[in-house]
Amino acid sequence: AASNNKFFVGGNWKSNGTKESIKDLVAGLNAADFDPKHVEVVVAPTFVHLDYVNSIIDKNKFAVSSQNIWIKGTGAFTGEIAAETLQDLGIHWVITGHSERRALCNETNDVVGLKTARALELGLNVIPCVGETLEQRQSGQIFSVLDAQMKALFDRQAFIAVKDWSKVVIAYEPVWAIGTGVVATPEQAQEVHAYLRKVLGNKLGAEVASSVRILYGGSVNDKNCEELAQKEDVDGFLVGGASLQAASFETIIKAHA
Ligand code: PGA
Repeated sequence: AASNNKFFVGGNWKSNGTKESIKDLVAGLNAADFDPKHVEVVVAPTFVHLDYVNSIIDKNKFAVSSQNIWIKGTGAFTGEIAAETLQDLGIHWVITGHSERRALCNETNDVVGLKTARALELGLNVIPCVGETLEQRQSGQIFSVLDAQMKALFDRQAFIAVKDWSKVVIAYEPVWAIGTGVVATPEQAQEVHAYLRKVLGNKLGAEVASSVRILYGGSVNDKNCEELAQKEDVDGFLVGGASLQAASFETIIKAHA
């Protein structure tokens, strides 16, 4: 990243972990040697582990995020978790629109827009995820897919009206790179990040757009992170598999240095 933006690394633990394994992982993370002045780090355990992780993790170095929220508040919504409930637990971050939720739980662009707006209205920090499938890339639809995903965010006033854009961190996660071991090349990532920054700029102005952090996600590991981190518009990473190992994750956290 060439900008002045604070580097950002998120660990998406997905549907993984036992109380025992999470205790070990957090102990490893708490021992990680990095300067939180130079990098912001957020980890996202499952809903049922949020409170536990938040109670044992070093809050000087880490914040805790949920992986999803409900589109509405508390109430008669069996099995869903509202933003208010996260706030009550002291959770101030949420990931929206992860491709696994889009693909496996039928979350449309519109639903992702609603969830993102809901998070922002309640004062949460949010990491909306966008990204194309291999088929969409190969058939030349990549930018129209990204446009539609971004438009669903811009359709919501709460997204445009954000006062502090450090509360919004966009994650570009090409679906073909997630969990596949096929990482985007630094050039592929840079091309899309620059495009997303242009899309943000068209709506929000160049100054705001330059301050919004854009993360790359998809098969990031301790070997490929450094090269990716050097690209101008790569302001950090959203990491799945490699975030489950403290040593790998620590290397990724320090990739910008
Ligand atoms: P991965 O997942 O790092 O395991 O590819 C990334 C993500 O889904 O956020």
